[in-house]
Amino acid sequence: MSWFSSPIREEPAEMEAADWLKSRGEVDGRLCSAPKISNPKIFAEPERRGTASTRKDEMTTPIQAAIEAATANQALAVAGHTDMVWGHASVRDPKGRGIWMKAAEWGFEEVTVDKIVLVTPDGEVLEGSQKRHLEYPIHTEIMLANPDINAVVHTHAPMANAFSALGVPLRAISHDGVPFVRPDVPRFTLTGNLIRTRELGQALAETIGDAAGCLLPAHGLVTVGPDAATAVMRAVLLERACKVQLTAMAAGTLKLWSDDEEVEAKNELVWSASQTHAGYGYLCRHISPEGI
Ligand SMILES: [Zn+2]
Repeated sequence: MSWFSSPIREEPAEMEAADWLKSRGEVDGRLCSAPKISNPKIFAEPERRGTASTRKDEMTTPIQAAIEAATANQALAVAGHTDMVWGHASVRDPKGRGIWMKAAEWGFEEVTVDKIVLVTPDGEVLEGSQKRHLEYPIHTEIMLANPDINAVVHTHAPMANAFSALGVPLRAISHDGVPFVRPDVPRFTLTGNLIRTRELGQALAETIGDAAGCLLPAHGLVTVGPDAATAVMRAVLLERACKVQLTAMAAGTLKLWSDDEEVEAKNELVWSASQTHAGYGYLCRHISPEGI
């Protein structure tokens, strides 16, 4: 079941996430611990913008942010980004407390909403009873650095790693590469190890800047967006762009790719907000019947 038809969304909009998670916990004791209260607003509350998000008016409660995060993780599974229990997607908390993020020790396809945790920039888990990932600073620091980013994806995408190892520019040799070539997709080279400190997260945020994402050589990729749909689709596209270029380079020398003018035009037409959301909708329709 996708979030488009999830009965969870019928909960009263004013219901607090903690209350809701607690109510779920009363059904299944594993789902949550007692909710904590009165946490400072560390993050700025996201503005309602006319961005790519078709759900901007719906993203008003922590519950919806948690559902959005669970859906994003499951969509990544549909797209083939599962790496056992590693990788994670997150959504900004509408109340400014941090991020709603996949819990540790679960695969993308296993992430129901009870496996989403609310994490602060200091790594404190405010909601949910599951463990957080070590690499939470990827998400918190990127969103702290850029208020326009409301969702972040990190996966250990194998084609991205294979491509990163070549140290060559990414070319728009298919639609997939278009969002990442003007300028060339950034590379985070400070470490190929886990990003588990605020300092590394801040350095990663600086590397990404205004880009759609970046490659993490010897590690994976990170993509960002104004909403989960965009961040997920960018992860899917970046991995596919790397795969297409690797395939071409294995067969010969690259000779043709879209120039800057065509890239700009395709970013407007091929990857418009509606097209991006249409692609994400396709992924969501193929989420497990078990639902989120
Ligand atoms: Zn990682």
